[in-house]
Amino acid sequence: MTLNRHKPLPRSPFNPKKGRKPKAWDKARRVLKGEAVAEGWDRCERCGATDRLSMAHRVKRRFITTAAELRNVICLCLTCHDFIELGTHERMAKLFDEIRSKREAA
Ligand SMILES: [Zn+2]
Repeated sequence: MTLNRHKPLPRSPFNPKKGRKPKAWDKARRVLKGEAVAEGWDRCERCGATDRLSMAHRVKRRFITTAAELRNVICLCLTCHDFIELGTHERMAKLFDEIRSKREAA
């Protein structure tokens, strides 16, 4: 399957108890979170904050179609996560790559 930025993947039917995220996403998220904790991610890779941490993807969740994309994450606090998600997909991917390359250079 190729990444089509104009056509979101179908979502599971709306469930008021679980929000709109499919069960498969919850499961994948738990696995990723376990890996992040095991790797010792304890601070935001953009500002260094140590609380309200989250995993940020290079593309928005609805455009993630492969396991590799799902695993391509950076650790951000919620403020920085909101910051990189503002604006265009191109801006988001660019900021993601900058943060990611800083990690690889360290
Ligand atoms: Zn931050």
